[in-house]
Amino acid sequence: MNIIFIGAPGSGKGTQSREFIEKYKFVQLSTGDLLRSAIAAGTVLGLEAKSFMDQGKLVPDDVMIGIVKDYLEANKGKSVIFDGFPRTVEQAKSLASMLNQQNSILDKVFYFKINPLILIERLTGRRVCTKCGEIYHVKTKPSKNEFVCDVCGGSVVHRSDDKESVIVERLAQFEKNTGPTIEYYKSTGLLVEIESSLAPELVFKQIQKVIAL
Ligand code: AMP
Repeated sequence: MNIIFIGAPGSGKGTQSREFIEKYKFVQLSTGDLLRSAIAAGTVLGLEAKSFMDQGKLVPDDVMIGIVKDYLEANKGKSVIFDGFPRTVEQAKSLASMLNQQNSILDKVFYFKINPLILIERLTGRRVCTKCGEIYHVKTKPSKNEFVCDVCGGSVVHRSDDKESVIVERLAQFEKNTGPTIEYYKSTGLLVEIESSLAPELVFKQIQKVIAL
């Protein structure tokens, strides 16, 4: 089974992905996480992606499509949650042909709908573990020690693109590029809208109901 989690930054895609990989046999392709690992490792990809990410802009489609192609080849036959990909109509069309080449299909696209005012609050307060990816929030889900992950002991940080100045651009990119991608998936009949302002366990149930796991 292949499913996409699509939604604005901070709409809860990463949190739900973690729930689903823990409880069911999915692998998660988070393109944002892959890019952050590439930056941390100082690879060519990381160097290329960093300037776009620091400004809240999208990394070019050809780079992203190449990353996803490699990932799908390495994970053939597995059930994938696409978290943060596709973000443009071109990426969406490429994904369809990549899956087709593997005789695979896209089962559902979950659109995480949320009030934009909640997003700023979620993103400015969000903290993440650089080692295991656990997601915290300074008010609603703080780690016991501000800088140490409760799960793995890794470093908990405030992502540099979760600062208000960058968030504004990321939300603008979402409207401009991902808005049309959502419309594209609506036209394919695969799109399911999820109310993601709710508590994570309630968002989980909405998705679970649709994919009947
Ligand atoms: P995320 O962790 O999904 O919020 O992604 C963080 C940043 O990585 C985005 O603001 C983009 O700069 C870049 N990025 C992640 N996924 C994509 C994608 N599918 N297309 C273009 N840029 C991406």
